[in-house]
Amino acid sequence: MVSRVIPVDPFDLVIFGGTGDLARRKILPGLFRRFLAGQMLPESQIIGAARSDFDDEGYRDTVREAIGEFGGADAARTVELEDFLKRVRYVAIDAKGEDGWKALAALVDQKRINAFYFSVAPSLFGDLAERLHLHAIANKDSRIVVEKPFGRDLKSAKELNAVLARHFDETQIYRIDHYLGKETVQNLMAVRFGNILFEPLWNSQYVDHIEITVAETVGVGGRGEYYNKSGAMRDMVQNHLMQLLCLIAMEPPSRFDPDAVRDEKLKVIRALEPVNLHHIVRGQYDKTPSEPSFREDAGDPKTRTESFVALKCHISNWRWAGTPFYLRTGKKLRTRTSEIAVVFKDAPHLIFGQEAGRHRNILSIRLQPNEGMTLGVTIKEPGPGGMRLIDVPLDMAFADALGDEIEDVPDAYERLIMDVIRGNQTLFMRGDEVEAAWAWTDPIIQGWEDRHDVPKPYDVGSSGPEDAGMMMHRDGRRWRELRE
Ligand code: NAP
Repeated sequence: MVSRVIPVDPFDLVIFGGTGDLARRKILPGLFRRFLAGQMLPESQIIGAARSDFDDEGYRDTVREAIGEFGGADAARTVELEDFLKRVRYVAIDAKGEDGWKALAALVDQKRINAFYFSVAPSLFGDLAERLHLHAIANKDSRIVVEKPFGRDLKSAKELNAVLARHFDETQIYRIDHYLGKETVQNLMAVRFGNILFEPLWNSQYVDHIEITVAETVGVGGRGEYYNKSGAMRDMVQNHLMQLLCLIAMEPPSRFDPDAVRDEKLKVIRALEPVNLHHIVRGQYDKTPSEPSFREDAGDPKTRTESFVALKCHISNWRWAGTPFYLRTGKKLRTRTSEIAVVFKDAPHLIFGQEAGRHRNILSIRLQPNEGMTLGVTIKEPGPGGMRLIDVPLDMAFADALGDEIEDVPDAYERLIMDVIRGNQTLFMRGDEVEAAWAWTDPIIQGWEDRHDVPKPYDVGSSGPEDAGMMMHRDGRRWRELRE
């Protein structure tokens, strides 16, 4: 059922920040999985680079340890792991200094695909780009991969774009939003543009509203200090939720090609109306007898940073005029769930009378957990009673549909790294997209700052502050329940 693995051409991948959390948790275990799947060929080379002082063997020990900790069942494949580790090298480099660059230049093979993963703080992007260029390590076909956060506002995003553009063409820059690497997100495009069924209904004439929820059960934990400077709006809405909004709302691109898709996404962001501050609710999780509050996690008793946002927005175009989009994300909520729900309008005329009840079709697209889709369909309640209607789900959980082979589906990071090697930018954000997203987000954040907005407290394990429910209630609607 799962499509055949097509190996990518042999490559050299340099991971700047190769000793960091992201490299250890996601990038290195992900590469090992692609190696096991036969997608990364043994001729390929992975080069870790950071300031820490390791030789190749010392770094391989840390990679072995990272895969042991984060590689799941793959960690038991010890023979293959040792084979994989032979492809791993290390160079000690300070992004801001001159040592190590010659050694890196000697390792990177210019005759094949090379990619540079900037898994470091954004303040180092400029230094890395500059030195890769200076030491002729990157060439015109090289790719660079950059992580979120891509700026903290429009100004800083423009500066980052400018720094990278000094040495790299836009076609070489891969801005990762790992949400776009999820199987369901791509399936969303397949469902929309591969079937005739949905597209005729995909507009304000038939869709009452659309909800996008990304709920987490974890708090900010050890990232409190970092998170306190960003908040849910910058950390989640400006990137992940807006990317999902774009995919659900965009016009069909003329082809499935990177710029055709990204042009359509950009049009959605540019068509977003400014959000009325009355249509946004911010929240902060409270303490429980056993767990700290957001303020405690942030180490800042007076912080006004939000750990929850719910908002209503509108897209001003022919397709969506009049259909609200409700976005919601937060930490320490009832369940960990990411879902897009397309709520269709009532049938125009109810022939079954009031007692049959009112029912709506809802297409729910789950990103996590249990990636899959459910279409709520109205049918007659079985039995001898009158004509009563009930909703039943037409459920397509990928795990059921694909059986054990779902195990072989690459996770978001693996897929995206392989796309970098293939040179396919479809699932990466373009510079203008990121800037447009900040241009829409900035006035919201500025508005909060201007009026010294204080987030509403909410209980750990709840659905967020009551005001979020009230916001929906005023529109005669209800949030979908947060459930696994
Ligand atoms: P981290 O754990 O703090 O790691 C930072 C890495 O950068 C380390 O390997 C560090 O190694 C290296 N480094 C620091 N200063 C350096 C310098 N001057 N020259 C060369 N290397 C240097 O951070 P992280 O969590 O892995 O995050 C990396 C990037 O990914 C950040 O931009 C972050 O925002 C982003 N990100 C992370 C996650 C995640 O889950 N961790 C998720 C999304 C985005 P040395 O100290 O040995 O130099």
